[in-house]
Amino acid sequence: MRLAVTGGAGFIGSNFVRGVAEGRHPELDVERIIVIDNLTYAGTLSNLDGLLDDITFHRTDICDTETVTRRLAGCDAVVHFAAESHVDRSIASGLPFMRSNVLGTQSALEAAAAAGVDRFMHISTDEVYGPVPTGATAEDAPLVPSSPYAASKAGSDLVALAFARTHGLPVVVTRCSNNYGPYQNLEKAIPRFVTSLLRGDDIPLYGTGTQVRDWLHVGDHANAITALLAGTPKESVYNIGGGCGLTNLELARLVVDELGLKPDRISFVQDRPAHDTRYCVDDSRIRDEFGYRPQRDFHDAVRETVVWYAQNRSWWQR
Ligand code: NAD
Repeated sequence: MRLAVTGGAGFIGSNFVRGVAEGRHPELDVERIIVIDNLTYAGTLSNLDGLLDDITFHRTDICDTETVTRRLAGCDAVVHFAAESHVDRSIASGLPFMRSNVLGTQSALEAAAAAGVDRFMHISTDEVYGPVPTGATAEDAPLVPSSPYAASKAGSDLVALAFARTHGLPVVVTRCSNNYGPYQNLEKAIPRFVTSLLRGDDIPLYGTGTQVRDWLHVGDHANAITALLAGTPKESVYNIGGGCGLTNLELARLVVDELGLKPDRISFVQDRPAHDTRYCVDDSRIRDEFGYRPQRDFHDAVRETVVWYAQNRSWWQR
């Protein structure tokens, strides 16, 4: 398979590319990997260290349909990660999110169809469902996004599904929970917590830290995407969860504990507007159809992640 990955210099995209390039997903039988990324503040070639001789990297904006079409020539599948991804930034300024996430997805779909790509995987988020006070949301739950980021992702999901119906491009939309692992931008929770503590600062925690999030290791996420890409999905939307919900305060305490520090290193700061209280996806569809299960033990994988940031200061102090 000739595989194109948009946003492949970002956190999840680069981990996915690394896994494929290092042979952890042989079922995909990938002969060539093309990464398309315009290297925003969130994307860096250092996320692809050691891989650049084995992949083809193009610094290209996904909104540039003509160039993306040329880049995709000869590709069999696209995994579309490229997006503006940070909720706080979307609250400060929503327009870049609408541009890259909604228009960028339309552009990537048009380019994929024009280039004759056989399969398009659109990577979305559990945040499109809005808050889930109890229970879990299945794929047919209404989309009630709270932030401009989540609204732009919900818009991009609808754009992708409508494109599939109109133009017959085989599209699969995935909605995963919070990812964690190496190479994540420091603005996101776990790297922020770890690096604040390593710098001698406190962890800044929004509100009272009672918001519940489900945590998915980026390697388990890659396994789920691979299962869908290698198989024949019956549906067009799949939730992907980590099966591990905890409050932000519990998560912060875990990180403090891993570094052998005391809980007084957590400071509470003003909450963000419209901060969703809880997310929880029902991912029985991908579990039943593909036998997907998160493989990582949460505590071991968080420990491993904390150690990675502690041992890779040169990456995050760049
Ligand atoms: P990230 O911000 O780390 O990486 C995004 C990448 O996309 C960057 O390399 C950036 O340069 C690139 N990009 C942004 N706009 C672009 C454009 N217009 N053209 C080309 N490249 C562009 O994000 P991430 O955390 O790796 O998330 C990847 C995808 O997964 C996103 O679509 C996000 O919505 C989704 N997602 C992430 C999480 C999470 O916990 N990180 C959870 C659910 C869903």
